Amino acid sequence: ATPVAMLASIGASAKRGLLVKGGRYLEALARADVILLDKTGTLTLGRPQISDIFSLNGLPISEILALAASAERYSEHPLAEAVRAAARAQNLPLYEAQDFEALPGMGVRAKVNGKTVIVGNKHLIPQAGTLPVARGLEAEGKTLLFVACDDQLAAVLAASDALRPDVTAALDELRALGLERIELLTGDNERAAAGLAGKLGIGYRAELLPEDKIRIVKEHQADGRTVVMIGDGVNDAPALAQSDVGVAIGAMDVAIEAAHVALLREDWSLVPEAIRIARRTMRVVK
Ligand code: ADP
Ligand code: MG
Repeated sequence: ATPVAMLASIGASAKRGLLVKGGRYLEALARADVILLDKTGTLTLGRPQISDIFSLNGLPISEILALAASAERYSEHPLAEAVRAAARAQNLPLYEAQDFEALPGMGVRAKVNGKTVIVGNKHLIPQAGTLPVARGLEAEGKTLLFVACDDQLAAVLAASDALRPDVTAALDELRALGLERIELLTGDNERAAAGLAGKLGIGYRAELLPEDKIRIVKEHQADGRTVVMIGDGVNDAPALAQSDVGVAIGAMDVAIEAAHVALLREDWSLVPEAIRIARRTMRVVK
């Protein structure tokens, strides 16, 4: 049975917007060793903007955007919304998209206007990795989307997403609580990850697929660590579920479903708060 002190803590937490789905998660939070963080939508606001568009095959920018936004038409990823918004800003009508496929951690593929259009990263379009223009944009810390039409590289788009304003203070609090091992796990490119991790003073692993994130959680657990993972549920719901405590930030239903703790307000200060509440509760319970 769940001790009364735990139930009381769960009730008090819920009033603050911290939904804890059971006493065992308070227990695990209290003895957390490592904190793993998703990037897009978790550390960042999840509202990226397209900042650069380079045509590589002579297609006009408007046509590239129309094709890319049409291929992204049915994707729920924040980057897809960024591409659609860029097309809308130029009043470009979208084409019908057929055979749409979302490839988690990689991008999308669809038939658009008789062509197979791919929008995604190096996992989908390996020949894009070595482009000088791509390396320059990556060095600026941007997220890159490559566009290919019928297997020909057509364009590079760059996106950037603002850091959530309350992340830095929350990470400082976590370190003050003795949680020194904090790692960014992201599907984004190496340089974008390194730039952000450097700024936040945390470790990182980049260019990960959803299954890589699960594997890394399991590796920490095999080394005997209690893993807290914070994510927004886009491509990271399985890793949240695998963690000892999966914490969902943001309002994605998948995340709230898969997670063990859900932040009902998008407020990063609830993360160190959860650790403090858990430790306090476990002192009473023991
Ligand atoms: P993160 O780990 O940063 O939260 P995701 O796992 O959601 O990121 O996505 C990782 C990478 O996969 C993105 O940086 C992007 O390169 C690519 N990607 C995912 N979804 C899409 C999409 N709909 N369109 C284009 N690229 C995508
Ligand atoms: Mg994400």
